[in-house]
Amino acid sequence: MADPAGWARQLLRQRHACVVAGASTLELLAEAVAGQPVRPPRVLISDSEPLTPRTRALVREALGTDPVDVYGLEEVSNFAWECEQHAGLHVSADSHVVEVEAPPGEAGPLRVTALGMWTMPIIRYETGDLAAWATAPCSCGRTLPLLAAVHGRAVDSISTGDGRKLLWPFFHELLGAEADVLCWQVRQQSRAQILVRVVLQQPSTDAVAMLTARLRRKLPPDLHVEIEAVAAIPLEANGKRRLVIPLP
Ligand SMILES: [Zn+2]
Repeated sequence: MADPAGWARQLLRQRHACVVAGASTLELLAEAVAGQPVRPPRVLISDSEPLTPRTRALVREALGTDPVDVYGLEEVSNFAWECEQHAGLHVSADSHVVEVEAPPGEAGPLRVTALGMWTMPIIRYETGDLAAWATAPCSCGRTLPLLAAVHGRAVDSISTGDGRKLLWPFFHELLGAEADVLCWQVRQQSRAQILVRVVLQQPSTDAVAMLTARLRRKLPPDLHVEIEAVAAIPLEANGKRRLVIPLP
């Protein structure tokens, strides 16, 4: 059960060496402790969901530690992680074989083979997520394969009239640049229409109208956008936040 205030009390009571949570949970925790004297955890691990740049900044500011993004699946455990350079996710190549069906720099379906699973082999498992290989080695000097990014669920995308798929990083570019937008979620309502729910710092009819006009200029012309200012965007039943919701 989500109890951000309870987590905050625990964090204020003593210094924790390691805190591990999904990105949405870390965000709730950051909001609950904001402005209070937290002793920064030595390691802060974000898993289960894409860690957006906004969540990273919020968490770093409130908890004093830069979160480390880790990627894995319940079925095969974690197998990719950020190093101190935060320039992508290194693959644990000694325990997992990772494939991305796209040239380096482009997003494609992510497949994984877990080498240590002798009882229940998992071979070339379709994760359902999209990822992209980095085009240059990491400056940390590690020679493990490097994923530039994991974009999350392949199905969580907005389809455009010309056959493109817009993933959450696209909308982050648009909405992350808006200082007034605290939180957002994009939902495709039809082939030609999307609804963007936003939590605004200073909600007003004018703010919504101006944001709508700015987004219309930057989105494909055949994609109509409507903006709805809301007080909060609830998490899904599994405690995660869905940034992009495609057509059912
Ligand atoms: Zn590195």
